[in-house]
Amino acid sequence: MTYDEILTKYEPVIGLETHVELGTRTKMFCGCKTDFGAEPNTQVCPVCLALPGALPVANRAGIEATIRIGLALNCDIAEWCRMARKNYFYPDMPKNFQTSQYDEPLCTDGYVDVTVNGTEYRIGIERVHLEEDTGKTLHVGGATGRIHGATESLVDYNRAGIPLVEIVTKPVPGLGALAPEIAKAYVAELRDIVRSLGVSDVRMEQGSMRCDVNTSLNLPGEEWGTRTETKNVNSLRSVERAVRSEIIRQAAILDDGGKIFQETRHFQETTGDTRPGRSKETATDYRYFPEPDLVPIAPDPAWVASLRESLPEKPSVKRARLREDWGISEVDMQSVTNAGAVELIEETIAAGASPAGARKWWMGELARRANELDVDLAEVGATPAQVAALQKLVDAGKLNDKLARQVLEGVVAGEGDPADVMAARGLEVVNDTGALTKAVDDAIAANPEIAAKIRDGKVAAAGALVGAVMKTTRGQADAKAVRELLLERLGVS
Ligand code: ADP
Ligand code: MG
Ligand code: ZN
Repeated sequence: MTYDEILTKYEPVIGLETHVELGTRTKMFCGCKTDFGAEPNTQVCPVCLALPGALPVANRAGIEATIRIGLALNCDIAEWCRMARKNYFYPDMPKNFQTSQYDEPLCTDGYVDVTVNGTEYRIGIERVHLEEDTGKTLHVGGATGRIHGATESLVDYNRAGIPLVEIVTKPVPGLGALAPEIAKAYVAELRDIVRSLGVSDVRMEQGSMRCDVNTSLNLPGEEWGTRTETKNVNSLRSVERAVRSEIIRQAAILDDGGKIFQETRHFQETTGDTRPGRSKETATDYRYFPEPDLVPIAPDPAWVASLRESLPEKPSVKRARLREDWGISEVDMQSVTNAGAVELIEETIAAGASPAGARKWWMGELARRANELDVDLAEVGATPAQVAALQKLVDAGKLNDKLARQVLEGVVAGEGDPADVMAARGLEVVNDTGALTKAVDDAIAANPEIAAKIRDGKVAAAGALVGAVMKTTRGQADAKAVRELLLERLGVS
């Protein structure tokens, strides 16, 4: 069955669990630093190493960030709730339990609206809760970096205890064939909302935002099917692919009369399909109980109200405003959003470029380059200030389009700011009229027959001579100026 055939027969239900690592300066239950990339096991203490007798204290900034996320997702904020112990053994978790929340989450019952192909869909939010991250295990000595075949495993506890917020959607039925795209749009919207709050850098490639994708299929009129939970979904594109491939895999099994088992699956970046992981634990396996070492969290309603009042402009509202300012269509704004270019373009304009100029570089040359390198646009190697500087050089007539692209290539390659690259590579539009006139006269002298045609009024023939001049000036002349000069020298106007 093709994907479209499957969707005429089965109805998908999806649900997303998204983890966001908060950007607090210190960990959730101790004062250890959270700097990324520090030497292994240098940001640890008795509390996050779970040494006997060490007692946790909650980080107010982590609670505040969680409440702000909840408010931005239209949730109710609990007036009183507790942390819970989620018990399980894993070597990267020093306490043998994770401090999390279970039946008393900080935020509940919200929603996010996302727009796909001009239609708005409301994704219900079941809960937003606070927990802590685990450490990291590194398996070495094997070929694959996995535990199988490794000769030893190393553990780094720097990440253990960094606050994590988990955002869980309600099951979303009724999306039909658009389920994969809507799942992706939801994660993109969530990322933009969290980023606008400034509480996390929400980088999927670096793991500060991670997504588990639940998918099930049912026949129309029947109960929802058994879900699988796909882990390791580390990019927006993968969210879409993971839902799609699970729909296809499950449909084949169901069509064969088979059953779907509730299990954890792993997304394979290379093939785009999912592989079985462990069979899924149920809540009872974790022996949840209220954390006795921490006091309950009882946010003052006045504090919550002030957090609500100070929420930033919603990304969707901001996009509508910018779309107006930039004078572009909804479709164009959608591509800018999908490319993750909204802030970059905004900052480029703030640095002095025109909206059209800023958009042109980010959505053109730089988007292409980011795609080639398989990195986010923000990581492509050019800053908004550099792009604005480049556009100013074009506006001042110092660079033409072709040269500007070469300069940008140098900027992306780390050769410095546009002005540095221009100087180092000797890229500048030849504006020196003397030099240009000589190049034009040389071209006329070298091509007497073409020159004669132009003198006789066949102006269309000028292209060949303009081309010749552009060649001798190595593309560094302004083609329009060359053409004008050429016609002037030939006495045609
Ligand atoms: P667990 O921790 O066991 O994964 P959670 O409650 O954290 O359970 O998350 C379950 C996710 O799966 C939620 O997003 C929920 O909406 C979703 N879900 C529940 N039932 C289904 C279903 N039948 N099909 C698809 N998704 C589902
Ligand atoms: Mg889960
Ligand atoms: Zn610590």
